[in-house]
Parts: sequence; C-alpha cells; structure tokens
Amino acid sequence: MSELNIQRLDAGAADFEASLQKLLAWEAVSDSGVNATVDEILGRVRTQGDAAVVEYSNRFDRVGVSSMAELEISRERLEQALEELPQAQRSALEEAAVRVRDYHERQKSDSWSYTEADGTMLGQKVTPMDRVGIYVPGGKASYPSSVLMNALPAKVAGVGEIIMVVPTPGGELNELVLAAAALAGVDRVFCIGGAQAVAALAYGTETVPRVDKIVGPGNIYVATAKRAVFGVVGIDMIAGPSEILVLSDGSTDPDWIAMDLFSQAEHDEDAQSILVSPDADYLDRVEQSILRLLPTMERRGIIEVSLRNRAAFIHVKDMAQAVDVANRIAPEHLELAVENPQALVPDIRHAGAIFMGHYTAEALGDYCAGPNHVLPTSGTARFSSPLGVYDFQKRSSLIQFSADGASKLGPVASILARGEGLTAHARSAEYRIKQD
Ligand code: NAD
Repeated sequence: MSELNIQRLDAGAADFEASLQKLLAWEAVSDSGVNATVDEILGRVRTQGDAAVVEYSNRFDRVGVSSMAELEISRERLEQALEELPQAQRSALEEAAVRVRDYHERQKSDSWSYTEADGTMLGQKVTPMDRVGIYVPGGKASYPSSVLMNALPAKVAGVGEIIMVVPTPGGELNELVLAAAALAGVDRVFCIGGAQAVAALAYGTETVPRVDKIVGPGNIYVATAKRAVFGVVGIDMIAGPSEILVLSDGSTDPDWIAMDLFSQAEHDEDAQSILVSPDADYLDRVEQSILRLLPTMERRGIIEVSLRNRAAFIHVKDMAQAVDVANRIAPEHLELAVENPQALVPDIRHAGAIFMGHYTAEALGDYCAGPNHVLPTSGTARFSSPLGVYDFQKRSSLIQFSADGASKLGPVASILARGEGLTAHARSAEYRIKQD
C-alpha cells in the first residue's frame, strides 16, 4: 500500500465488475444544486439579455463592468495580441494551427448525388452552419489550444461566423488566447463564461448574436447549461472530467507513464488516470515513479487529490484482457504504451483518441499533433466522436424524380400511404403516375 493509496483492481477478481462501475461512476453532471443555479441563470439571460449577463459576469468573474460593450474584444485588439506575442510562442501557435488545420481538412465531406437509369436523381447536399459559438474555458486556467481546436474545424467547414466566449476572472485577459483567436479567424470575442455565456449564445442578447450550435468544453455549469439549451441550439457533447487510460505491456519507462498520468491528473481534482498492465511488478514500478516525481510537480496539490480519489491500477492476465477492459471503459484518451500498438488497434472499439507507442505522449495530441483534443468523456466514446469538421456541417437530402421515375415509384408510395390511412399522400403520388 502506497502513501497515495492508488486503488488496485484485479480484472480476474469476482467483484471486478462492481469495482469497475464504482471507479467509473460520475454523477456530478446531474447535481441538483447546480441544475437549479443554471436554470435561474438561463431564465434571467433569456428574459433580461445583456443586463443579466453583465450582472452574472460581475458576480462570478469579478469583471467590474457596467455594459456588455465593455466585455467585447475588438478585432484590432486580437490582432495586436498576435503581433505582440513573443516569437517563440507565436511560432509554436502557428505550427500547431497549421497541423490542426491540415488534419481537419481531411475530414471535410462534400455533397454527392447519383442518377438512376430513368433519370431520377438522389443525393446529399452538405452545408456549413451559418453561425456557431465556441466556449473556451477560462475559470481556473487559460486554454489557447482550445481556441484552435474549436475554431479551426469550424473554419475548415466554412462556417459563416464564429463567436467565441471566454471568461476572464478579475478582468484579466490572456494574450495567448486572444492571439489564438486572431490566428484562427474568430469573428467576435466576448469575455463571458459559465451558464450565462451559454445562455447568451443560445438565446441571443442585444449584443451577443444567437448561434446555431455551441461547442467546446467547460466546467459543470457550462456542461449543465449546454445540456439544458440543447434543442434550442445544437451542441457538440456534454463533457465530463478528462480521463486517460494507459495500457502497458511493461516496455515503457515507468517515469514516462507516471508523467502521462500526471498530465491528466493536473487538469483538475476530478480528472481520472488509469493504468492497466499484465505485469504486477511494472505497476509497482510506476507507482514508485509517481511517489518520487510528485514532489517535483508544480500542480502537485491537484494531482494528488485526483490520483487519490479517481486513479486506479488494474492488473489483467494478458493484453487481450487489457483491451477488453479498455473497451468497457471507452476512455477519452487511450495510450497504448506497448511494443507493437498496431497489433492492438483492430480490437480497440471505443476510445476518443488512441495514442500509439512509446513516443506518443498524450500531451502532443493535446496541443499540436493535429487531431482534435475535444473528445468524448465518461464512456461516451461508445457512441460519439472527437470534435470535427462534421460537427459544423449539416446535410440536406436531394430528391428529383423524372416523369418515368415518378410513374414507376408512385404505386409503391400509394400502397404504403393507403396502408397508413393517409390518402392525401397516396393521391399526391398517384397524380404523377402516367396514364397511357
Ligand atoms: P470554465 O470556463 O468552464 O468555467 C468558469 C465559469 O464557471 C465562470 O465564468 C462562472 O461563470 C462559472 N461558475 C463558477 N462557479 C460558479 C458558481 N458557483 N455558480 C455559477 N457559476 C459558476 O472554467 P473552469 O472552471 O476552469 O473549468 C474548465 C473545465 O474545462 C475543466 O474541467 C477542464 O478540465 C476542462 N477542459 C477540458 C478540455 C477538453 O478538451 N476536454 C480542454 C480544456 C479544459
């Protein structure tokens, strides 16, 4: 037993299933106190617009303003942030942006159609959204990388207007966040956050334009508000705390794995880091690395709470069982810290992003590899995907019948419509059947 008491589970134990469920349980997203607060905020922003957003921003983010206009950042100010960025930061931001854009270009889908022998044409028209809102978190930390990850896929999709919201506690602007917004081509930036920002984007206010979809991660107030406005606007997903699952055959330096687990745990106290291996000695060695390296970490307070509350080491009998555990967890980030990751990939069915091999630190994916870092959490990789260009494109069906086609298919529609008792449908199809 270590000082941190990281939980140990054995995949062969009779109570493993129950222990795994307990480990993965994440109920906070339906916290009733938070729900009540968010409902009140949404209601007031909906009816009082800017005045309510200003009041909440003063209350929660201590911005000390009297009008919404003071919370908008001009395009010139964004450009200035980019111009004045230290060269090393500017180059890093630009390189990340190029890679993220290149990756997402490949996700773009085009309209398509085909024509049948009788001249009937069927197809699908792909259209970007008119206006989207991107939520960039800013309560406890600033995330310039999230600006790129949210805005660039929207840009690649061809979205007409991108509205960004980012809270600025104490009114403090983050120059890298502003520079990233300029670089990514964000159209308007408002320094607002939490449920009031989500409400402003969903309903629109006198100053904040109403959007068609809201994307981006955030804390529980943001997640709860997004869930509540879904239907009025589209949303990408409901993000829970970040997670990493590392599958290791024991071949990676234990210090590297310890740091990968830390990199997740340092996000916040609720983040979850899990290591799975068939090698019990290796689990011990990683734990020793954790204990040795933890005192050197700047954010050790957060890391320690996260590891103590939500981390686990799972011992499995072999890598096949490790893959089985991974599929049941459906993690946001899956690291395959093994000699031959390619051999495991075909059997991985549920994961937001798969990091393959010893040299692929999750951190590279977080910032600059190219793929998106907004990923499905809390097991939702079973049914959803990373944020992508497809989140900003929608599809319309195209249907055009020739006279021959209408005659041929009319009887089919007529029979089915009469079977449903919908005679107007039937007759509308029958009118177009050629009478010889
Ligand atoms: P945030 O911007 O999500 O939330 C800050 C806002 O929360 C404030 O503006 C305020 O309006 C609201 N708020 C705070 N306390 C409140 C209260 N008591 N009542 C009502 N509203 C309140 O910033 P954060 O808090 O730092 O959280 C960011 C989250 O986003 C973290 O969980 C982080 O891990 C996550 N994140 C995820 C990704 C990803 O890609 N998955 C990337 C970056 C950040």
